[in-house]
Amino acid sequence: MDNTNEQQANLEDIYEEAAHWHVNTGGETIHAKRIGGWFRSFKWYAGSLWLLYFIMPYFRWDGQQAILFDIPSRQFHFFAATIWPQDIWMLSLVLILLAMTLFGVTAVAGRVWCGYFCFQTVWTDWFTWLEDKIEGNPIQRRKLDAAPWNARKIRLKVFKHSLWMLIAILTGVTFAAYFTDVYALWVDYLTLDAPLVAWVVLASFIFGTYVFAGFMREQVCFWLCPYARIQSVMVDKDTIMPTYDKKRGEPRGKIKGKGASERGDCVDCHLCVGVCPTGVDIREGMHEGCITCGMCIDACDGVMEKVGRPKGLIRYASRKDMDGESLPPLFKRPRVLAYSTIFLLAVFGIAYGLTHIPPVELSIVHERQPLYLQMSDGSIQNKYTIKAVNKTPKNMHLHLRVTGLPSIKIRMNDGDEIVLHAGKLNRFHVYLRAMPSLLKKEDTKIRFVLESVDPADKIRLEKGTVFIGPRK
Ligand code: SF4
Ligand code: SF4
Repeated sequence: MDNTNEQQANLEDIYEEAAHWHVNTGGETIHAKRIGGWFRSFKWYAGSLWLLYFIMPYFRWDGQQAILFDIPSRQFHFFAATIWPQDIWMLSLVLILLAMTLFGVTAVAGRVWCGYFCFQTVWTDWFTWLEDKIEGNPIQRRKLDAAPWNARKIRLKVFKHSLWMLIAILTGVTFAAYFTDVYALWVDYLTLDAPLVAWVVLASFIFGTYVFAGFMREQVCFWLCPYARIQSVMVDKDTIMPTYDKKRGEPRGKIKGKGASERGDCVDCHLCVGVCPTGVDIREGMHEGCITCGMCIDACDGVMEKVGRPKGLIRYASRKDMDGESLPPLFKRPRVLAYSTIFLLAVFGIAYGLTHIPPVELSIVHERQPLYLQMSDGSIQNKYTIKAVNKTPKNMHLHLRVTGLPSIKIRMNDGDEIVLHAGKLNRFHVYLRAMPSLLKKEDTKIRFVLESVDPADKIRLEKGTVFIGPRK
């Protein structure tokens, strides 16, 4: 056998399968062929980061769940930090940071998020991996789908759907576990004692996971995902993406037969289409269905190896690369600069917020009705309401003193000591009395000073207000 015949023989099994592969038209489920390679491995490693999603609710910090959106108490616990509604501006910065990361990465390397990290593609990958293991390769799966129902088909389908359902249930329970204690939640679900909202969340997630990852799969990326529609405004001629080298590959065709010597390197085996999870033909140019997963690169490199041609007929490259132009450095690309600047500002904002969250949010409200009372001994009394949110996990024991008006008398309903209960909004009434002779004007500026009873605690809170007396 001469060299060309041998190479052609190496491809025969691929050509045979190619009859089953076609470009996605949205009409049927794509059964993508799974093959090994560098990008396939990277996709596994990247997707496995999502295992943290399932594990994190079981982590404890200071005796409580490390990550918890405690909606009834309006608190978000993130390890040592507790975020209150007053600090919610930080959440906006986190969202900006995530958006800028996504935009920046897209500007540099296209839809990397979609190809390797997006929950839709990762869950779909897990579901189709199970399908591949249980029902066989794409040809066997299509045959099984078309075959009449028998004991084997029922057994395989029940097994596959049971595992899919198990993942869907775990996904739903885990999501709910970020909003309540995970161990109590499991008990509530298993004893059928969970509140209605927990059942609604679970049912929604089971339905969403099972349908989106099991049945709709790549159609979600193709037809439903808004990101696919807007990505074109984030990429430019410098963005590197899986790209078919047309100059090298065309005209495509089989490696032997009439005119073979005139053809390019693409042997038209369709393997790049067969492995594509969204069923697009990358040789037709950039497509909104391409999630830049690199599976076609692995596939084509394998084919090039078989036919003894250089790898990289499909490779990560920019339009400029393909046109023979050189890429500018990242810091000279306006989009990358703009996204990075906003990203860094958001990082600094969050870091500042986390390191400057006050342990206590203090407010003092002066009673307006009446503004003051003249007591039987002639003194003037003002009433104040202290509202203090103790954001720490410990109770605080404090003394109150008032500065700015000498000889002022302090009276509180609950004795001398103020206790700010941990993680609570605490409210107190305070009455101040001063003799009119001490008041030089109608309103005197004073300051409330709250200090820890135990000096070792080193807590000192201060807030200004006014003491109001008769008009002078
Ligand atoms: S680009 Fe590569 S994988 Fe795709 S048809 Fe051509 S040779 Fe085959
Ligand atoms: S064309 Fe290639 S990179 Fe794009 S989705 Fe298909 S396999 Fe992935």
